[in-house]
Amino acid sequence: MRFLHKFTLLLSILIIASSFIQFGIFERSFIATTNSLFLATNEKAAFNVGEQLVAYFNKIETSLKAIATSKQIKNNQVLFDDVNSFIPELDLIFIIDKQGRVLLASGVDGDRTGFDVSQRDYFQQAIQGQTYISGVFAAQSGRKVISIATPIIENGSITGVVFGIVRLHGDTLASMFDDKSFGRGGFIAILDRQGTIVYHNDRSRIGQQGRDFLQLQDVTGSAIMQYDSGADYYLGYSKVPGLDWTVIVNTPAAEMTLLRNRIIYEILAVSSLVILVIIAIGSYTVRRYTKPLDKLVEAFSAVRKGKYKKIAPYGYAAEFSEMIQVYNDTIEKLEEVHAALEDAADIDELTKVYNRRSFDKILGIIESEIKANSLESIGIMILDIDNFKLTNDTQGHLAGDEVLKEFAAIIVSVVGGRAVFRFGGDEFAVIVRNCTCERIAFMAEEIRLRCEESFHGYTVSIGTAVYPDNADSVGALLERADKALYISKEIRNKVTAYKEGY
Ligand code: GH3
Ligand code: MG
Repeated sequence: MRFLHKFTLLLSILIIASSFIQFGIFERSFIATTNSLFLATNEKAAFNVGEQLVAYFNKIETSLKAIATSKQIKNNQVLFDDVNSFIPELDLIFIIDKQGRVLLASGVDGDRTGFDVSQRDYFQQAIQGQTYISGVFAAQSGRKVISIATPIIENGSITGVVFGIVRLHGDTLASMFDDKSFGRGGFIAILDRQGTIVYHNDRSRIGQQGRDFLQLQDVTGSAIMQYDSGADYYLGYSKVPGLDWTVIVNTPAAEMTLLRNRIIYEILAVSSLVILVIIAIGSYTVRRYTKPLDKLVEAFSAVRKGKYKKIAPYGYAAEFSEMIQVYNDTIEKLEEVHAALEDAADIDELTKVYNRRSFDKILGIIESEIKANSLESIGIMILDIDNFKLTNDTQGHLAGDEVLKEFAAIIVSVVGGRAVFRFGGDEFAVIVRNCTCERIAFMAEEIRLRCEESFHGYTVSIGTAVYPDNADSVGALLERADKALYISKEIRNKVTAYKEGY
């Protein structure tokens, strides 16, 4: 795996790991924060509801006290009914005499005059001189109600009681709290001192026995509690001053879990997106950098094997085009140098005509052409300076070199540079493609003549042979040309064209 692949992989692993660490930290701080937030909110809400409840009862008490002190109201049914209609918090109002019998009733279907409430706790408390708010009890109608009773004091002595009834399933109490919501599954509940539910968001629970919250000691507080199902919920509570009732505000912890899960999923989605983007950028970068590098490695491997391979100069990122260009320029230079070296290897250092190595190479090519039957004709001549050794012996080797150079130049002047090869010593060869016996002999004669005329007295002996006239293979052709030279050497300064019978 390449470094960049490893790097991208490492980066992705780091992001995944950091996401998990984030989840962990988030989980811990989120739970701690939301727990305290929910608990504080619910406690505060319970306290507020308690205060509202106190204000509600204070208002009722004031109204009842006003009735208690008014002689006209107590003796006038019509006026009494009118007053009741101005106190919407109360469903019924009763005026009771000292013995606990109903003197006047408002909001009641039918006549309740004479009805005896002397045994009711609210009567007994109020007749003692104090305003009393009862717990939940069943009225004569069977409805669950609470009662608020206050004494009638005339001339300093208690002469009776005024009490009002609030029907728990009516709208007066419920309208205060019904619009308050505490999350989807949250609710407010008000419990009287016996734990009977006075108010609940779910009306069907009103009048039922609530859960036992007696263990809640403080006036206000909060706690994480458990339903019977085992699910947690946040409980905020507040004891209502003077009433000994309890207000509870309840939010299921599952709501917080939902919220937490949503946040976690959001973090997860964002992290996944970031990882995908990083992988995409990583793979793009890897491809962008490795593609040209792979090409270079491949091309250099070819160079190592002796093949000069250029790279297509397009399809790479801008920063690599220049690198590829430099590589291609280098390869071009190398090719030139290589070609020059190859040429140099084929050239005779002294005479600057092709050397024996090159001659052998050409013979190899000719041989395969003959085998492939693709060679029409070829003429060959072998040339040797007469008595050259003498020059070396008498004038020295350097002078001999000059003679060799001059001889090569004479041959080139007649047949052209591409046809001349130095065989070795003072012996040269000429190869001419598409050539007749006459033409090669003519060329040889031309060389001999030029030497005779202007080669400082040196002469040359030449033997020629032609394929396919004189031979059917390269070896035979060479041998026949050599034989012809041998014949020329018998006389010297002579050209001999090979003929059958030599
Ligand atoms: P022949 O007429 O029979 O050819 O007589 P020759 O004296 O030319 O004899 P031969 O061709 O056998 O001698 C070739 C001589 O060429 C022998 C050697 O000393 C000389 N020679 C070979 N290579 C070189 C070279 O590079 N430089 C010089 N100066 N002499 C060379
Ligand atoms: Mg010679």
